[in-house]
Amino acid sequence: MLVMQQLTKKFRTDDVETHALRDFNLNVNEGDFIAVTGPSGSGKTTFLTIAGLLEDFDSGSYQLDGESVQGLNDKALSRLRNEKIGFIFQSFNLIADLNLFDNVDLPLRYRGFNAAERKRRIEQSLELVGLQHRLKHLPTQLSGGQQQRVAIARALAGEPRFLLADEPTGNLDSQMAQSVMALLEQINQRGTTIVMVTHDSELAKRASRNLVIRDGRASEQVVNQRAVSQFASA
Ligand code: ADP
Repeated sequence: MLVMQQLTKKFRTDDVETHALRDFNLNVNEGDFIAVTGPSGSGKTTFLTIAGLLEDFDSGSYQLDGESVQGLNDKALSRLRNEKIGFIFQSFNLIADLNLFDNVDLPLRYRGFNAAERKRRIEQSLELVGLQHRLKHLPTQLSGGQQQRVAIARALAGEPRFLLADEPTGNLDSQMAQSVMALLEQINQRGTTIVMVTHDSELAKRASRNLVIRDGRASEQVVNQRAVSQFASA
């Protein structure tokens, strides 16, 4: 589904070259919930931005849903990104002066869906995150956890196959973090594949796979048994 092989990414600033990813290999399967951990500066964000087609890479290969991303022009990359990928970030990235409905609507307008289709997707995704009664509220009228739920709804309204999350609970207290994690688990069980970078080792244990990145290389830790049995019985 998402396959990276021998992927390498270097950054050059003035006379310094940083190897952000080196010989990076990963197979993400449909239905996976992957938690990515690792020290600061190890390459987690670089991996996520390349996976999300926001950044290119130097060598190696990357296939998304059977399609090789090498050689695709900007238009094709943005089509692939819009159709397949949803993003959520630590900082929510909501537009402060737009209400919830309009925040979720923005990327749908950009993609050119008609009004009826947009309304269906907005109401459905805000209902999934439990905020269907707050359509006219502004982000500032919500708690941090609720704002992250809006950001999740906005990502899901695109009906992505992959949800890429960069520290989605990083700005939340532990109770709100638990509740956002429970929502992500629910979304995963409905069929969306999730890759989540997190510093929170307790939350990482709840994912179905744990990937550790060190010095730009990925290694997989033994899958957490509790998570596996939860998934098996789900
Ligand atoms: P993490 O998310 O694990 O903290 P990053 O992927 O942000 O790590 O960074 C990996 C390495 O690449 C670090 O050494 C970082 O300084 C470097 N790096 C990341 N982005 C850039 C950039 N835009 N320009 C130069 N160096 C970068």
